[in-house]
Amino acid sequence: MSNKVRQEGEHRIAVYPGSFDPVTFGHLDIIRRAAKQFDQLIVSVLNNTSKNPLFSVEERVALLKEVTKDLPNVEIDYFRDLLVRYMRSRNAQVSIRGIRSVTDFEYELQMASTNRQLDEGIETIFMMTNPKYSYLSSSIVKEIAKFNAPVQDLVPPAVEAALKRKFGNAPS
Ligand code: ADP
Repeated sequence: MSNKVRQEGEHRIAVYPGSFDPVTFGHLDIIRRAAKQFDQLIVSVLNNTSKNPLFSVEERVALLKEVTKDLPNVEIDYFRDLLVRYMRSRNAQVSIRGIRSVTDFEYELQMASTNRQLDEGIETIFMMTNPKYSYLSSSIVKEIAKFNAPVQDLVPPAVEAALKRKFGNAPS
């Protein structure tokens, strides 16, 4: 029997939204686990003009595509609209968020409640991080890479190479 979260006959589409600046093993763990629970998982990069990202939306999308290429039901996209409106446009019912700590939880609860207020038909599902990655964030990875310290335990090889190019540490 399938262990997917589903109602009879329904094609279950979930969106995993985030900045992914850049994607880490923590994100990838959530992506792999969420992909098993839904027919389709859309990982969508938020084009958030109020943050000052290291990687452009195009670069973040390309890295996500590269590191999820073995997952047939995962699609990579981007959006700049309200999440609930974007989800309606993609026919998605569920938003996935990863929780690392109590600090994440407070913010995530606020976001989930806001989204519910905006659209009652949208459900947020929280997935607990793999404890291995509970300390891991894109900001920490950028900080470490900036000082040319090893990040191979934190991000996939394609992301490691992209960080080296960004910070001018790539082998010549
Ligand atoms: P945002 O700017 O939306 O918080 P992030 O790219 O930082 O975007 O994170 C996207 C989602 O992934 C969030 O739900 C965040 O809590 C989750 N996440 C980030 N890092 C990890 C990790 N190491 N383990 C599990 N979930 C994570």
